[in-house]
Amino acid sequence: MFDIAIIGGGPAGMSAAIYARRAGLEVCVFEAAFCGGQMVYTPEIENYPGVARANGAELSLSMKEQMLSLGTVLIEKQVSAVSAQGNVYKIFADKDEYDARTLIIANGANRRKLGVDGEEKYTGRGVSYCAVCDGSLYKGKTVAVVGGGNTATEDALYLSNLCEKVYLIHRRDTLRAQKHLIDAVMKSERIEKLLEIRVVKINGEKRVNEIVVEDSGGERTIACNAVFVCIGLKPENAIFGDIVDLDDNGYIVAHADCRTSREGVFAAGDTRTTELRQVITAASDGAIAATNAERYIRENF
Ligand code: NAP
Repeated sequence: MFDIAIIGGGPAGMSAAIYARRAGLEVCVFEAAFCGGQMVYTPEIENYPGVARANGAELSLSMKEQMLSLGTVLIEKQVSAVSAQGNVYKIFADKDEYDARTLIIANGANRRKLGVDGEEKYTGRGVSYCAVCDGSLYKGKTVAVVGGGNTATEDALYLSNLCEKVYLIHRRDTLRAQKHLIDAVMKSERIEKLLEIRVVKINGEKRVNEIVVEDSGGERTIACNAVFVCIGLKPENAIFGDIVDLDDNGYIVAHADCRTSREGVFAAGDTRTTELRQVITAASDGAIAATNAERYIRENF
């Protein structure tokens, strides 16, 4: 029996594990992919205090090493269900079953899809959701980045160092990223800003070769070798819907203290209702969730 089962190995889950292990608790982290979550895809992190500039993948690795060095059990399996039995939680992952006194749900959120024709067909053949992973395939080529937030602007800047030309395509007339990112995008001659335009179709043969866009003047095509879709995140919380309350967008309803609608279950990081989704806020949530989980265990077991 674990004291705390942490579901998700992003900055929230890893921070929770570090705090819980230092409090002497038996802790496991379920992570089926790689530790770090969305952080792994971030080329440069410049707003984590004490770390002036970090590569997201490297920061992920360093958090993982710290978490493992403290004796956290990493279970590299996909959690398929959780259930409550008395005051114990059962976690089902890849046909195995685990017990824990508390749960910290820190499964983050996944990249949202555009939902246009050609997106699914060309995923992996020109359609990508990760500039850091796939950008180098398009050195010297023309690519499109869709979205107007921090991810889209960061990815457009990252790709502008590799590609001949980058189209940044946003459905509104203003970008909604941090000011320094917008300034850098505006300054870049390699990035052509296409505002108040929507991508309506992705065409290709073996791979993507053009997109169809639409604005007030109608439709037209733009030749490009890849489309990077950076239009935000979507939580994947259906398996938790029976034990905790979700909001209308599927985020776990949780307070600033990371407590959910159910005793003994905490939610940390991007997966919960919150104003700001950053590495620092996820790490902070992990610390808070672990501290409250420790208090819950002390008072109830
Ligand atoms: P985001 O902030 O939610 O922005 C998504 C963008 O995609 C918005 O501009 C939105 O347009 C657009 N969009 C949404 N659905 C669309 C659709 N169907 N078609 C076309 N455009 C669509 O997402 P994000 O940039 O991925 O960031 C996610 C979270 O991570 C945010 O909290 C962000 O602050 C954080 N993050 C932070 C950093 C950093 O601090 N450096 C870096 C990356 C991410 P509208 O503007 O019209 O809604």
